[in-house]
Amino acid sequence: MARARITPAHLTAHLQRLLCSLATPRQWEDLITAADRIGRYSPRNRAIILAQYPNATSLAGSSAWAGYGRRIIGGQRGLGVLAVTRSPGGAHTRADHEQDVFAPDLRPPHEQDTPAHHPEPAPYRGESGATVVKVWDVTQTAKVTDCAACGRAAEAPCAPGCGGIPGAPAESVTPAQWWQLVQELPEGFDPEPVWAALNEVVFLV
Ligand SMILES: [Zn+2]
Repeated sequence: MARARITPAHLTAHLQRLLCSLATPRQWEDLITAADRIGRYSPRNRAIILAQYPNATSLAGSSAWAGYGRRIIGGQRGLGVLAVTRSPGGAHTRADHEQDVFAPDLRPPHEQDTPAHHPEPAPYRGESGATVVKVWDVTQTAKVTDCAACGRAAEAPCAPGCGGIPGAPAESVTPAQWWQLVQELPEGFDPEPVWAALNEVVFLV
């Protein structure tokens, strides 16, 4: 049976369900900690990734993982992230969809310290012009060659803490960026408990 194609609207729904569920400071702390652990993705995409895969730490596209001697484990679903298409004038159109995709940085986290081949994703401005790109967490991959990071053989597990790749650059999501995501929650939803819980976390830490 064919899997349903994941759309930007699906990802937005995942994100909103996650944010609507965060009614205690502890739940926000967990999300913020997890988001800070993930490499260079937009705050929106970090939350979208965690909504799909709460334990995500190190993400990359399948060809990037292949370049690091890892393959996607059979049956592991790619995690959707939003990329934005943009015309030179700034308007989103279908025509430039193919040639001008501002894709997220799909390289493994340790490579993201260097300037990206892709520019940073353009600000997300709604469903129009957005497209879904798939990434996989390191735990969804397996070594097929000796590890370039710790040197252990393909058939041996990596050294503790290696995970096959060095750690991601630290780049915290700011309180203002979290507030912005909460402000986009659907109309009719009572944001008070979510705001109150977030408020407590961002002003206490
Ligand atoms: Zn290793």
